Amino acid sequence: MSRLPVASAREVRAHARRLALRYPRQLALTVFLYALATVFGLAAPWLLGQLVEDMRDGTAEVDRTTLLIVAVLVIEAVLVRGAMYTSATLAEKVLAELREEFVDRVLALPPATVERAGSGDLVTRSTRDVDVLSRTVRLAVPDSLTALMTIAFTLGALVLLGPLLVLPCLVAVPVLWAATRWYLARAREGYLRQSASYSELTDGLTETVEGARTVEAFGLAGRRAARADADIARSYAAERYTLRLRTVYLPISDTAYMMPVVAALVFGGWCYIEGLVPLSAATAAVLYVQQLIEPVDRLLYWMDELQVGGASMARLLGVRGEPAAAVPAQVRNGGGQDIAVRDVRYAYRAGSDVLHGIDLDIKRGERLAIVGPSGAGKSTLGRLLAGVHAPRTGAVTVGGTPLADLPLERLRREVVLVTQEQHVFSGTLRDNLVMARPDAGDDEVRQALMAVGAWEWAGAYGLDARVGSGGTELSPAQAQQLALARLILVDPHTLVLDEATSLIAPRVARQLERSLAAVLEGRTVIAIAHRLHTAHDADRVAVMVDGRITELGTHDELVAKGGDYAALWHSWHGRAVAN
Ligand code: ADP
Repeated sequence: MSRLPVASAREVRAHARRLALRYPRQLALTVFLYALATVFGLAAPWLLGQLVEDMRDGTAEVDRTTLLIVAVLVIEAVLVRGAMYTSATLAEKVLAELREEFVDRVLALPPATVERAGSGDLVTRSTRDVDVLSRTVRLAVPDSLTALMTIAFTLGALVLLGPLLVLPCLVAVPVLWAATRWYLARAREGYLRQSASYSELTDGLTETVEGARTVEAFGLAGRRAARADADIARSYAAERYTLRLRTVYLPISDTAYMMPVVAALVFGGWCYIEGLVPLSAATAAVLYVQQLIEPVDRLLYWMDELQVGGASMARLLGVRGEPAAAVPAQVRNGGGQDIAVRDVRYAYRAGSDVLHGIDLDIKRGERLAIVGPSGAGKSTLGRLLAGVHAPRTGAVTVGGTPLADLPLERLRREVVLVTQEQHVFSGTLRDNLVMARPDAGDDEVRQALMAVGAWEWAGAYGLDARVGSGGTELSPAQAQQLALARLILVDPHTLVLDEATSLIAPRVARQLERSLAAVLEGRTVIAIAHRLHTAHDADRVAVMVDGRITELGTHDELVAKGGDYAALWHSWHGRAVAN
């Protein structure tokens, strides 16, 4: 199984930039409000610095300065609120766009790619990775950006007070750098192990409780208790490990935060005594350095999260198909509709072909049955004929164009594989049908339902009736009929019918067979026959053995020839008659 690709770091950065700049006005407004708020936030320490100096000179107006500080703080709070609001709405918009883009990407994937990658990978990407990215876009990105901005402005203010006063901040850099690197290298894995150990513990306990009778009956109590003990021990060890990480990292980082404050106090005092800076500047500098702690802390906190979010984004961007090939003119004109298979080989695992050079021509309107022992490759050939898989070598063409080159929505109008996976989507009956052809009107929908004999119940519900989860539950037979009506709307000229996957309860089989017959009417049908009477009714029969077509002809020809098919037919027919 080959996993879906993952986008490169460069693609992720380019995409993030494009996303960020998609709403330039709102982005500019957000940045402006945060910048303004930060400037107001810087005013209070500066005023305090002035106050200290004025006190020394005996010219202080404490009441006025206090009022001013209060006013500045209120304005800052209002600005921060506005900035948070605009950044939150911006994040939601970007997130919605990311999600829509992702859904578009998934839907545009060629079936062969999905088939190869397996659905597990796709499901994880569309659930866990989307969740992780939501958190990153909603919280980590705006919060770290504002933290960065606050840090930059505060450093700017320090430079304005006196360039020398920036120096104390530098003492923290090497310590924080080393400690954070050490922590980040270990934390992720440690916390993952910790949560995995919780799941194991819960799983074990739940199992013991649910299977309490079995545990008792077989005297397994000792073994179950031992397992719980082992789980607890593992969980304890995992917990101790992360605790150790915190007990090392947090004191170091807290100390590193305080070092610049102390340094600013000592160094600022010295600068003041030496007459290098005024008292107000030295005071304000200490307060600024103290104010730096919070944004730096926030930035470090999100660092890890940003990396995880980037990884998720890379996985989401990796979901993409090859660009759709240009549709050759002859297909656009509705060209030929004959299907040709030329020397087709196919392997699920490299090196072991399950189809060994298949050649087959199917004329428009023909009914071909493919029969043969189980494992011969019938379903595989069926999937190749429907363009679900692309051949390893050779080609499957319709009207001269390789199926593999057709864009999905074009392909679906040529050939459709009919399987039993008949999902009823939650929505109205109409939604369930027009999803196959969004431009279909109510008349066409009604006619499609009538053709498959479903109008009786569907008409009674009405096209606006809600079905699927949360709505009216449809019976399996009704779900099948919906799927068949969808086929009539899509109107492909060729259907590949895999009988093994379309077995239906005998009770409803007769009704559904009539519905199916209506859909097959006038189309090329390739039936993978697991019951020989299908073969008997077909125009031609292909017999497959071990990935090769060994016999090809009409039922009568093959019976007369006395080969594999004749043997199969006689044994089946004999049994059928005996029954
Ligand atoms: P049939 O429809 O005639 O029973 P299939 O086309 O299902 O035969 O299988 C042909 C061969 O391909 C078998 O050997 C089967 O084990 C193998 N095969 C089928 N599907 C897969 C798959 N998804 N992955 C790997 N091998 C597969």
